[in-house]
Amino acid sequence: MKIAIIGGGIGGLSAALHLLKAGLDVHVYEQSSRIGEIGAGIQISPNASRLLIRLGLEPAMDRVGVRPVTIHQRRWDDGRTLQRAPLGPEVEEAFGAPYYHFHRGDLAEFLGAALSADRLHVSHKLVDLEQKGERAIARFENGASVEVDLVVGADGIHSRVRHLTFGPEKPRFTGCIAWRGLVPAERVAHLGIEVASHNWMGPDGHVVHYWVASQRFMNVVCVTEHGTWTDESWTNRGKVADALARYEGWHPTVRGLIAAFPETFVWALHDRAALPRWSGGRVTLLGDACHPMLPFMAQGAAQSIEDGATLASLLSIMPGDVPAALRRYEELRKPRATRLQDASAANRTRFHLHDGPDQQQRDAAMAASGDRSIANIGWLYRHDASVIPDQGPRAPT
Ligand SMILES: Cc1cc2nc3c(=O)[nH]c(=O)nc-3n(C[C@H](O)[C@H](O)[C@H](O)COP(=O)(O)OP(=O)(O)OC[C@H]3O[C@@H](n4cnc5c(N)ncnc54)[C@H](O)[C@@H]3O)c2cc1C
Repeated sequence: MKIAIIGGGIGGLSAALHLLKAGLDVHVYEQSSRIGEIGAGIQISPNASRLLIRLGLEPAMDRVGVRPVTIHQRRWDDGRTLQRAPLGPEVEEAFGAPYYHFHRGDLAEFLGAALSADRLHVSHKLVDLEQKGERAIARFENGASVEVDLVVGADGIHSRVRHLTFGPEKPRFTGCIAWRGLVPAERVAHLGIEVASHNWMGPDGHVVHYWVASQRFMNVVCVTEHGTWTDESWTNRGKVADALARYEGWHPTVRGLIAAFPETFVWALHDRAALPRWSGGRVTLLGDACHPMLPFMAQGAAQSIEDGATLASLLSIMPGDVPAALRRYEELRKPRATRLQDASAANRTRFHLHDGPDQQQRDAAMAASGDRSIANIGWLYRHDASVIPDQGPRAPT
């Protein structure tokens, strides 16, 4: 079976590795001239790290990744702890895989390096798709085209594959923007920040930060409610002074981190309502192309990695019946991705409460039985996306 993956982001690259491991003939077509990611961090939880480890990537993950010890959620002004839950050895023991923090560039690099160069086609921007019986033809801006048994659209929130398969539909601006900064460790050494996933919650905003790149940088994302926005690029330069002004009155650690930004970029956060279908004929979608979500569960990339693992398992189980495999793929993946889209949106409300009765209720709930305790997060972290239910005891791909 020949498969063309459109998009060489985290979802497309990891799907290609899963499909190759399942013995399928797969090529990745990426519009950019090189594989890479913007300078920012990403959290990879055990539900996704177990899949990457199974691909043989653990040495690379340990070389550049950071394993946080805990997740620490705090109040915006006085820094009082709202919830503290394990992310270190207890999580690895409970769920069979570690929690990692990466620089996105590192993650993209080791995923890309694991694919042989002849399977990775950069400077290939998909412009058109045609379906002919049991085949699909992908055409690229550079004049090239490929005819395959299956096209997988891993081309992100503005997916051209989705547009060509299901028609145009714009992602929606959520009303949140994010300032991001990547701070060299020496600039924040005086703040003594532990190796954890930190989340400060306050009125109309929250701030997440953690160490990346073998603790050489602190990745900081400051989210705030904003109203309107027109652009959506990670590369929109913002002003550090504006970010500092927005976080007036916040804890000195938060303000100290922002003040240490060498530069800052602003990103408008978009999402999309759950799609009715992910597949049409010999075309399917994965990752942000079909289930973009607010980043407030830190699961967008993790879910794209899960998508690829499930798709690979299904296509290896039923190689002769691609439509049936795609139906099952949607049945297995859509409810979980939709649950995470909803949970991410709910966290926006929870994280951004003004001080008052709702905030007090939230804080009491977090103190009583935090949603990040091992017991409460098991539904998310224990999941093994490469195991297909009702398929007997076969080894996961
Ligand atoms: C602030 C923030 C923090 C986040 N934190 C986390 C986190 O901690 N953990 C987590 O799991 N997720 C996180 N996410 C979500 C995560 O970044 C995304 O879900 C993930 O990157 C999606 O990967 P993808 O491969 O589906 O899409 P993308 O990363 O968008 O990749 C799509 C690729 O397709 C290419 N492409 C697009 N169009 C074409 C075309 N026509 N032809 C060829 N190629 C094309 C693009 O160039 C790109 O390389 C966060 C998101 C944000 C905004």
